[in-house]
Amino acid sequence: MLSSASAILQAQTVTQSDKDRAAGLVRQMTLQEKISLLGGSVDGFHTASVPRLGIPAVRMCDGPQGVRNNTKSTLYPCGIAAAASWDRRAVNGMGQGIGMDARARGVGIMLGPGVNIYRLALNGRNFEYYGEDPFLGGETAVSYITGMQSKGVISTIKHFALNNSEYDRNTLSSNADERTINEIYFPIFRAAVEKAHVGALMTSYNPVNGIHAAENPWLIKENLRKWGFDGIVMSDWGSTYTSLGCVNSGLDLEMPKPYVMNYDMLKPLLDNGVISEDQIDEKVRHILQTLSAFGLLDKNPKDSTISEDNLSSNEFALNLALEAPVLLKNDGVLPLKAGKKNKIVVMGPDSDMVPCGGGSGEVTPVDGRGITVVQGMKALGKMYPVKFLSKGDADSYDTPENVKAIESASSVIIAAGFDKSDEGEGRDRSYSLPKGQDEMICFAAAHNKNVVVLIFSGGEVDMSKWSEKVAAIMMVWYPGQAGGTAIASLLAGEVNPSGKLPITIWGTLEKNPSAVSYKPTQAAGDKAKYKKYPYAEYKEGIFMGYRGVEHFGMQPLYPFGFGLSYTSFAFSDLSIMPSGDGYDVTFVVKNVGKMDGKEVAEVYVAPINPKVLRPAKELKGYEKVFLAKGKESKMTIHLPRTAFAYYNTPSHDWQVDGGEYQILVGASSQDVRLKGTVNL
Ligand code: BGC
Repeated sequence: MLSSASAILQAQTVTQSDKDRAAGLVRQMTLQEKISLLGGSVDGFHTASVPRLGIPAVRMCDGPQGVRNNTKSTLYPCGIAAAASWDRRAVNGMGQGIGMDARARGVGIMLGPGVNIYRLALNGRNFEYYGEDPFLGGETAVSYITGMQSKGVISTIKHFALNNSEYDRNTLSSNADERTINEIYFPIFRAAVEKAHVGALMTSYNPVNGIHAAENPWLIKENLRKWGFDGIVMSDWGSTYTSLGCVNSGLDLEMPKPYVMNYDMLKPLLDNGVISEDQIDEKVRHILQTLSAFGLLDKNPKDSTISEDNLSSNEFALNLALEAPVLLKNDGVLPLKAGKKNKIVVMGPDSDMVPCGGGSGEVTPVDGRGITVVQGMKALGKMYPVKFLSKGDADSYDTPENVKAIESASSVIIAAGFDKSDEGEGRDRSYSLPKGQDEMICFAAAHNKNVVVLIFSGGEVDMSKWSEKVAAIMMVWYPGQAGGTAIASLLAGEVNPSGKLPITIWGTLEKNPSAVSYKPTQAAGDKAKYKKYPYAEYKEGIFMGYRGVEHFGMQPLYPFGFGLSYTSFAFSDLSIMPSGDGYDVTFVVKNVGKMDGKEVAEVYVAPINPKVLRPAKELKGYEKVFLAKGKESKMTIHLPRTAFAYYNTPSHDWQVDGGEYQILVGASSQDVRLKGTVNL
């Protein structure tokens, strides 16, 4: 059984010989050459070259969902879909696929994964990220990075740190306390460094506790480097402000070009002794030793044996798209019944496009590779006769002909949600579906009792106007170029849905404990403290997402970790045995329903009477398992000692307190099936 992503594919790491080589090159370089390496070059998507020493300009591309920037390429399911799969292998495949797509195009550095925590549905870039839980996000990131880096391509984890909204993203400071940052907002980055040896990291646009991320030594030197990160720290595009700030923070590479880390501005600081040449050398070494580790000082990353239209990449995209959708509601309409006389109506704005969020995360599939829902449904064949009601504005559905089609349909599939025009980088989105969609769904539901709603989005949307009226709801996120094929397979029951929520669906925006402090607060008394920037105070602290459910006494509409299947699973035979520095949690999962399927077993640690305030439970382990109907599997999930730790602010370190802990095993954060206790 697979116990951790690192078992899948080993990443490249910086070795002593890479360090020696970088140091040797630095010794041969003039000051001017060294400084020239500290900023992006060519088109703003390359590192700088030093031809005299054979140092090439290395090409980099966005972004997390595939390769973009002057190219069409495989569009994979988006980040939150990857997290929703709870499937390390499938995510590792996505990483491998992107690695191959990058190599096919001569790209050495990929600007992903994006791993900022999901605080509130409104963040326009939630679709790129891995949801609300640091453990699930960490495992997802490690799987993705190891896959990509195994192909010789550097991953760039971004955006460090607390880039949790697009609202006023260049100036709004994210203000949180040290424990919250360490328990919620750092762990994914830290896992990427410690477990996946990620090659590069991008800082964020926003200030953190009043200091811009690229110029924030607390983030880079006091934390990131202390975790052992010896790769490249690059700025986000145009997020640098002062030469001194960038030099002292520990930033290595200013992107897209050297606005402030250039010779004319750094030379006087060196001459006056304000900064030292050692500081410059260290940055250059970080860049060169990383390029060396990935072979990028010796070879062009372009691998002409890989097609730009790579079939195995498409397979990886399809495989993940089958694992990621989360079935939220099913009155029994799904799986769709086969029958030549059935009529399946497909409608809605996302049904005849291949939707993706917008901005630097938007990837355009190679011509002919993008499969829409309509195409996917039609490809199911004559046992699933499909009629497509082409979209217009919502009102245009209300014609006698359409009403007849909807009324006489055996089921109505509505592809609702967003796309790049209303969800993406640079702006937040609405909580409600785009204009007219609620009305469209209600209209269809008024004429047919078998309405299935597919939601294309980066997270929660307001479903209150129609969730009771429709027969089924499936969150499909942005499922990528193979999404249409995957969705059709899932709706028809060729493959059983197995995704689970990587977020809490609260039901209303206000129920989310992060909602009150998402937008800037500027109490008069605080002005002196943060006079430079408006700020969002993360008032919910560690009690965000599902950690806030018990703490604030809230009842979510669909809890974190939830997802339906066409079959059902029973959990039994829990035993918890000391193992290594922690415990092995062993139990049996059995498919007790009528279809083959996959279940995600989730393990939560719940401290009993903790000495400090802690969340009621936290996810610390999970595995996805395939079980044919009637079959069972004995699963073992290891909980290391760190699974019991919390961040102790006075000692600035993680701490494990002795005492009793409950171990909860179940099918969601609220559906606990087995309980045991350990005494530390
Ligand atoms: C985004 C980054 C992206 C960069 C380069 C920025 O606007 O925030 O995520 O990698 O642009 O396109």
